[in-house]
Amino acid sequence: AFLTFEGIDGSGKSTQARHLAETLSQAGHDVVLTREPGGSPGAEEIRNLLLHGDPDRWSAETELLMFTAARRDHVERTIRPALEAGKVVICDRFVDSTRVYQGITRGDLRGTVDALHALMIGLEADLTFLIDMNPGVAHARATKRIGSEARFENFGLELHATLRAGFLNLAHRTRRFRIVDGNRTEAEIAADVTRIAHGFLDT
Ligand code: C5P
Repeated sequence: AFLTFEGIDGSGKSTQARHLAETLSQAGHDVVLTREPGGSPGAEEIRNLLLHGDPDRWSAETELLMFTAARRDHVERTIRPALEAGKVVICDRFVDSTRVYQGITRGDLRGTVDALHALMIGLEADLTFLIDMNPGVAHARATKRIGSEARFENFGLELHATLRAGFLNLAHRTRRFRIVDGNRTEAEIAADVTRIAHGFLDT
């Protein structure tokens, strides 16, 4: 099974992905926890290019190609082999992040994102958690981390709100999504995620 976590920067999705990986391992599943951009040696190299240096050095289209190239390598080298071996793959961000970040933040590239995905990747998650959160709180959290690996130094609150709306819109239109209220304690969110994942995997 292929499970993904999505959400804006600072939503706590990485923490929840880690939690779920541990819980499912303890329940006896063979789990691979991975992330994007990155998740394979080649894709991690592309991640370094994307997350360091001037974010405007490539056009929106070129940047989309780089995210897609990274994803292609990640799927070929990490995700597909694990799924074929019967493992549960948990991925912190996947193509839905590209549908939102590359799809709506630098012009409307949504059609191009979907066309490229169909052409070069094709794989979709079986189940996707959207950790939905108040953009102001998420923004404050993410800003504290800036300097580490945040994408844009000036990832403003307004952009955060646009991204959140983009994720919600996508989630409402897509059956595999489960929207989880991220404005609660880590333990409460994890309890919901665990219950939903068990319900999905055991049926
Ligand atoms: O999820 P993570 O914090 O590792 O993402 C690293 C950075 O890359 C974040 O600032 C995120 O907003 C950005 N990103 C992006 N487009 C994607 C995925 C991540 O701009 N498709």
